[in-house]
Amino acid sequence: MKKVVIIGAGPAGLFAAYKLAGKCDVTILDKGLPVEKRHCPSPNNCKRKCKLCAKLYGEGGAGLMSDGKIIFSTEIGSFLNNVDGVGEERNKGLVAEVQEIFGRYDVQINPLSEEINSKISGLEKACAAEGIRYVPTILAHVGTDKLEELIINFRNELIEKGVRFVPKSDVKNIHVENSGRIIVETKREYSFYEKAKNTLRRIFLRKNDDAYECDNLIMAPGRVGAKWLEGIVHKLGIEYTYNAMDLGVRVEVKRDKTDRITEVCRDMKFQMRTSTYNDLVRTFCTCPGGKVAIEAHEEGYNLVNGHSEKGDPYENTNFAFLVTIPFTSPMANGNEYARMIAAAVKELGGGKPILQQLGDLRTGHRSKKERINDFKVKPSLEGITFGDVGLALPHRIVLDIIEGLEKLDKIIPGVANDETLLYAPEAKFHALRIKNSDGYLQTSIPGIYVAGDGAGLSRGIVGAAACGVLAAEGILRED
Ligand SMILES: Cc1cc2nc3c(=O)[nH]c(=O)nc-3n(C[C@H](O)[C@H](O)[C@H](O)COP(=O)(O)OP(=O)(O)OC[C@H]3O[C@@H](n4cnc5c(N)ncnc54)[C@H](O)[C@@H]3O)c2cc1C
Repeated sequence: MKKVVIIGAGPAGLFAAYKLAGKCDVTILDKGLPVEKRHCPSPNNCKRKCKLCAKLYGEGGAGLMSDGKIIFSTEIGSFLNNVDGVGEERNKGLVAEVQEIFGRYDVQINPLSEEINSKISGLEKACAAEGIRYVPTILAHVGTDKLEELIINFRNELIEKGVRFVPKSDVKNIHVENSGRIIVETKREYSFYEKAKNTLRRIFLRKNDDAYECDNLIMAPGRVGAKWLEGIVHKLGIEYTYNAMDLGVRVEVKRDKTDRITEVCRDMKFQMRTSTYNDLVRTFCTCPGGKVAIEAHEEGYNLVNGHSEKGDPYENTNFAFLVTIPFTSPMANGNEYARMIAAAVKELGGGKPILQQLGDLRTGHRSKKERINDFKVKPSLEGITFGDVGLALPHRIVLDIIEGLEKLDKIIPGVANDETLLYAPEAKFHALRIKNSDGYLQTSIPGIYVAGDGAGLSRGIVGAAACGVLAAEGILRED
């Protein structure tokens, strides 16, 4: 039986394991904790005391504490349509397979009613008239609160089929021997009891559990592992190119502004070009009745994101509003650029994300905490600094955001009102795209595959899962 090691227990790693279970000897290494132990001590007021952010690392990946919008699309949250040797038809098959697997866990989408279909075409027409593209999203909403149970069931089924999960295993290095065998070296955090047992094992059996030898490796470390993956890719000489980078803000408005739109398709997706720079701006990850959340990254900066619970209990809606920027030489790596901006915002905000009302951004005034009682939209996130987004983000991005929101206001009246809240920085790291040598996500090094957000192949749960399925197919095909 082939030995396969998977790095990362997010959707990409889990779905790869699902496909390989029973057919290969599969081990999943993740630097974070098991699902049951992943608890964020302060979800609304991140104080950055944790060694690893429970929201981003561990079994279930960033998907575990996500909003659980499961979007069955080949276009949204996936780049596989543009990957050599994959293309739209094959991607459709992969998404259908992911949908079928989710269906086994009761994640279903209801067929659209005639009324919704007609609202979708009404919105498409209204948007086209304003130069906006409306992308209807067909999704199942699991909700942050229900995802944990789903992933526990998924993982337990994999364990029953023989998949080994090794949490708290931080992969540090990878070697390829002349024979083609792949060695994965980890640094594992052991409990006192485990440490004692391990020392004895090393002395008597001369076995080192921290290195895993395998025939095939799937690297699926997610966005949190994108920088680590960059290092490994350079070290091993794996070929890659760069993706465009997404940078912007998270917007928060009263939910009655967006209800009319989110009732049609919960995750409202609008794309538009701005008038001054002709840049692409888009809405992403809409959370109706949700809260803004913090992503605390290991490298030391914070990003904002959003989540919502089943039943959408809160009074606001938030969504990402992102500008897509393709970088070219000499700074082709947009990831580095976004990290520099995130680090600068951290300094400016005293370690916290920055919040500003849109009206203050327009007039160049810092928003003030003392005026919070006058805010018509109350911020759903506590650990923030009232500040000036205009000082935090480059002028071009700020202008794109203002112009984009003003355009969107024609479809969602009130979204560009002065009271609208903007949180910075919101960024999506997926700029490095590993070259795929065979249409199955195998890298230029035989036997090593990549999958998911960290490899620049996806930016959503279904897209990442589809990558996992494809990489697994690649491994199985070799038998
Ligand atoms: C707050 C939030 C809300 C979101 N909401 C949605 C949503 O509603 N719908 C949607 O489709 N998407 C959503 N997303 C995005 C979605 O979660 C990701 O696209 C998806 O999880 C990517 O899957 P992945 O397997 O590629 O990586 P991840 O889920 O990020 O998993 C990667 C795993 O690799 C591990 N890892 C990293 N480096 C190493 C290493 N060196 N050694 C060992 N392990 C390592 C990490 O601990 C992590 O568990 C959201 C994301 C966030 C953060």
